[in-house]
Amino acid sequence: MGFGRVAEKELDLIQRIVGSERMSTGDSVLDLHGKDESFHTRRRPDVVAWPLRAEEISQILRMANERRIPVTPWGAGTSLEGNPIPVNGGIVLDLQQMNHVIELREEDLQVRAEVGVIYKELNQYLSRYGLFFPPDPGAAASIGGMVGNNASGVRTIKYGATKDFVLSMVVVLPTGEIIRIGTNAMKSSSGYDLCRLFVGSEGTLGVATEVTLRLIGLPAEFMAAVVQFSAIRNATNTVSQIMRSGLSPAALELLDTQTVQVVNRYKNLSLEEKPTLFIEFHGMSPTGLKEELEVVKEICADNQSIRLDSGIGREQRNRLWEARYDVHESIKASNPGFSSLVIDTAVPISKYPDMVEWGQKVLAKHGLKGYAFGHAGSGNLHMEIVGVPEQEDEWQKVQGAGEEIVSFALECQGTATGEHGIGIGKRKFMRREHGKSLDVMEQIKKLLDPNGIMNPGKIFE
Ligand SMILES: Cc1cc2nc3c(=O)[nH]c(=O)nc-3n(C[C@H](O)[C@H](O)[C@H](O)COP(=O)(O)OP(=O)(O)OC[C@H]3O[C@@H](n4cnc5c(N)ncnc54)[C@H](O)[C@@H]3O)c2cc1C
Repeated sequence: MGFGRVAEKELDLIQRIVGSERMSTGDSVLDLHGKDESFHTRRRPDVVAWPLRAEEISQILRMANERRIPVTPWGAGTSLEGNPIPVNGGIVLDLQQMNHVIELREEDLQVRAEVGVIYKELNQYLSRYGLFFPPDPGAAASIGGMVGNNASGVRTIKYGATKDFVLSMVVVLPTGEIIRIGTNAMKSSSGYDLCRLFVGSEGTLGVATEVTLRLIGLPAEFMAAVVQFSAIRNATNTVSQIMRSGLSPAALELLDTQTVQVVNRYKNLSLEEKPTLFIEFHGMSPTGLKEELEVVKEICADNQSIRLDSGIGREQRNRLWEARYDVHESIKASNPGFSSLVIDTAVPISKYPDMVEWGQKVLAKHGLKGYAFGHAGSGNLHMEIVGVPEQEDEWQKVQGAGEEIVSFALECQGTATGEHGIGIGKRKFMRREHGKSLDVMEQIKKLLDPNGIMNPGKIFE
């Protein structure tokens, strides 16, 4: 499909809508909005605008739709699959200035916030009221970007992903129409679930401007444990057994030996360099948590764990989680000049040990360097395979290994992406993962965005 251009006339129209101080065609701004945290090639937009209101977005979309100009929403640009890269140029709508908490409904455990609010800041604000929004992608992501990618993270195993917390949203459709979807009820059987449709749509169906989120009361007590094994299979078997035991961990993360080595070095830790699980439980009382720990100890012993540290204080626990959140940065820092292809497969929990083993075998077969870690309790494996995209032969090997790993996940009735979204890199797996239901997705896209202006080149090939 041919797209329209952003020429002087369009720039004038955008200026009339947002004013000259909230738009830019400056080189550094275009550069910054041409690349996320992935290896995918930078592609600059023609103009960046920072709207403040749904009405401004509506006017820009109406104009862009008439002229067939691509529009890409931008949250914080922390995606790992090229999701917000404006591959066809056009207009980037940077939503970071729409960053207000509109209303806290403490009694209802709900918050209404603009999409540019950074979730970590939201949680700092909510902590004063004993509340929190659990999905936690680790990076400084915006609520809008989390909705766009259906982000989740270390606590998803207990609490759920972003989709489980969105009650209602205001969305601007590609035609410029502003609609409210969902309700503020905790449950509803009323009609199609449009919130679930928009969550994870990666900015391809419209622009969310505000979101009402369900919240959780902050747990009274925490308990963390670090468990180490001499073989990774023992660690992954432990994961599936913990999940089957009736325990409800709040986090259950895997780090392979190579990952432990880089976090030791870059986060100044002294973990034994062995396959490791980070486990956390949330509860009402230390007694209940101790009982849960006893069951964990038994399962770990059955799987020949070589070390289990528990009774970890708040400060040490925070350091461990900081190290876990900084795995990507630690890998980057220890491989200067290299990029990573990031695997994000998720499989049914019984298949997790095989998934991890398969990933490691594929790397060994191709002689590639990589790191395996991930939200093990949710069956979600991350592998970062390092290489240099400009070295074509070598990078093809990296891509080929990535495909073999994803293929295994699909054979296990899993998914190519547990949380990072399709973006550019995972489009090639869509037909295999979804079969004929991909056609239904394409029909929905055509219905809502007949001119294909919203974030073109994503999700669909
Ligand atoms: C170190 C690191 C660790 C990470 N760990 C995790 C993790 O554990 N779990 C996880 O899920 N992700 C993780 N990510 C990926 C990333 O942080 C998430 O995908 C996050 O949700 C992206 O949010 P963002 O605000 O940066 O959005 P962006 O990257 O700016 O945008 C994401 C997508 O949403 C669309 N979008 C943005 N705002 C809107 C809107 N208002 N309306 C409609 N569409 C919109 C964009 O067009 C794009 O397609 C990690 C990233 C890094 C760098």
